[in-house]
Amino acid sequence: TCGICVVKCPFDAIEIINLPQELDEEPVHRYGENAFSLYGLPAPQGGQVTGILGPNGIGKTTAVRILAEEITPNLGDYDAEPSWEAAIDRFRGTELQNYLEAMRDSDIAVARKPQYVDKIPDRFDGNTHQLLDSTDERGVVDDLVDRLDIGPVVDQPIDTLSGGELQRVALAATLARDADFYFLDEITPYLDIGQRVAAARLIRELAEEGDRSMLVVEHDLAVLDLLADSLHVAYGEPGAFGVITPPKSTRQGINEYLAGYLEAQNMRIRPEAIEFERHAPRAARKGEVLVEYPDLEMSYGEGEFTLEVEAGAIHENEVLGVVGPNGIGKSTFAKLLTGRLEPTEGELDARLDISYKPQYVEIDQPMRVDAFLASITDDFGSSYWETEVAGPLQLERIMEQNLTDLSGGERQRVAIAACLSEDADLYLLDEPSAHLDVEQRVLATRAIRRYTENHDATALVIDHDIYMIDLLADRLMVFDGEPAIRGETSPPVGMREGMNRFLGNLDVTFRRDQRTSRPRINKPGSQLDREQKRAGEYYYAP
Ligand code: ADP
Ligand code: ADP
Repeated sequence: TCGICVVKCPFDAIEIINLPQELDEEPVHRYGENAFSLYGLPAPQGGQVTGILGPNGIGKTTAVRILAEEITPNLGDYDAEPSWEAAIDRFRGTELQNYLEAMRDSDIAVARKPQYVDKIPDRFDGNTHQLLDSTDERGVVDDLVDRLDIGPVVDQPIDTLSGGELQRVALAATLARDADFYFLDEITPYLDIGQRVAAARLIRELAEEGDRSMLVVEHDLAVLDLLADSLHVAYGEPGAFGVITPPKSTRQGINEYLAGYLEAQNMRIRPEAIEFERHAPRAARKGEVLVEYPDLEMSYGEGEFTLEVEAGAIHENEVLGVVGPNGIGKSTFAKLLTGRLEPTEGELDARLDISYKPQYVEIDQPMRVDAFLASITDDFGSSYWETEVAGPLQLERIMEQNLTDLSGGERQRVAIAACLSEDADLYLLDEPSAHLDVEQRVLATRAIRRYTENHDATALVIDHDIYMIDLLADRLMVFDGEPAIRGETSPPVGMREGMNRFLGNLDVTFRRDQRTSRPRINKPGSQLDREQKRAGEYYYAP
C-alpha cells in the first residue's frame, strides 16, 4: 500500500508514500516507558536563523532543551544514566557532532527564551529593569528596550506586566546575553504585528551582523517566512513520537508542511492539505442590527489612556474581526460593550449578554476538563456539542486531564470551547490563536465560523494572526492611535477596506505565494511592495 489508502492499490500504479510511524532506529531521547520519543535534532548554523515548524506536542521544545544543554539525551535508554559522549558518538560525522562536542567542552554559550512567558513572574521577583540588567552581558539593554518599546514598563514589577510586555521583556533578556547560540521558543504570542516584525528584525540582525546562531520555534507562518533562512519540519504523532527533518528552505518547508507531504522524506504527514483559499473579500452576511452604539469616549482618568469610538453598529450573525496594535483600546471597547466599563462620554444603553474569552486564559482550577465544560453547558456530551465544539477543537483526548496540567495550546482550546458553550448575544474572543499550532488555528477558525453560522450567533474576534482574521471575519473594526496614550476606531468596514486601512497604518503589504495562495509579507521597498502601496492594495492585491 502507498500509505494513503489502507488497502493495496488495485492499480499497483502509485509510488509508495510513507506515513509517519515510529522509526526503526533508536530515538535521540525517550522520556520513559511508553512515553514520548524524539527522533532527529535540528542543526543550528552560525550567522543564520533556523526555524522549526510543527504541531504542538511533537517534541520541538524537547529538541531545543537538548541543544540548550538542559536535557541530556538518553538515546532511548531511559533507565540508564545519559551521557553526552554517547550522544556525540551517535551524531558522529554529522553537522551536530561539532556542536555537541563544543557543548561538552563548554566552548559555547547558549541562551534560551522559554515558551511560556506567563511563568516568568513565578521565577523572578523584581522589576523589568532588574531582570534586564541581570542578563545584559552585551551591554545592549538600552537599545533593546528602545527597539522593543519596553520603555514604559522598565520600572514596573515583573508580576504586573501584561503577556505582550512579558514576551518582549523575555526576548530582550535573552537577546542581551552574549551567547553563540540563541534558542527562542515561540516569539509571537501576545505580540501585535508591528511588534512581531520588530522582534523578527532584531533576531535577523543578531544573526547577520553578530554572526550568531538563532533557532526559532514558531507557528506564525508570516513571521517564519520573514525570519528564517532554513526550516526543520517536525512531524509524527503528537504526544507519542516526533521526528525532526533535516533543514529545508523556508518556503519549501512551509509549503510542504501545509501540503501535508514532505518531498525529501517522501512522507505524507497529514491526509489533506491546509489550504489558503484565495477568496475575494466575501460579501458581509446581512443580519438585523444587534447593537447600535453612538459616539463614545472612554478615559481611564486625567492623563490616562483615552479611547474615542465613532458611532457604528454590529449585525446579528456576523463575525467581526478586530485589529490594531496592542494597548490601543480593543479590550476597553469590549468592556464597554459588556457594560463592565461605563463610557466617560456618550451612552450605551444596550446591555448585551456576552460570553468572553480573555486574552490571558486563566482556568487553573484543580478540576478535570470534562467536569469544567459540563459545569458551563447542559449540551455537554450531546452529539451536537461533540460535532460543533469538542470535535473541531480536538478536545476528546484531553477531557480527563486536569485543567492545571494542560499545555498552553490545550488550555486555549478549552477556553474557546467554554466561550462558545455559553448562551450569549455576542461571543467575544480575545486572541484565540495564541499558543495554537497551524492546524489547530485552522480548526479553531472553522469551529468559530461554523458555530456562528449554525446558531445565527455574532462574534467579535480580536487577533493578530492575519490568516485567522482573513478566514474568519465578515467585516473589520480597525483601531489606530498611539498605544497606551490614545486610541480611536471608526465603524466596522468591509474586509478589503479594513485590511488596507490596518496594513496601511503598519506600512506592510502582503503578496500571495504562487503555489499555495498563502499570504506572505513583502520585503519593505521591494518592487511588489512599492507597486501595491501605490495602488493602495495592501492585502487582496489581484
Ligand atoms: P512541542 O514543543 O512540540 O509542543 P514538547 O517537546 O513540549 O513538544 O513535548 C513533546 C511530548 O513530550 C509531549 O507529549 C509532552 O507531554 C512530552 N513531555 C515533555 N516533557 C516531558 C517530561 N519531562 N516527561 C515526560 N513527557 C514529557
Ligand atoms: P488593547 O486591548 O488594544 O491591547 P486595552 O484596551 O487593553 O488595549 O488598553 C488600552 C490602554 O489602556 C493600555 O495602555 C492600558 O494599559 C490602559 N488601561 C487598561 N485598563 C486600564 C485601567 N483600568 N486603568 C488605567 N489604564 C488602563
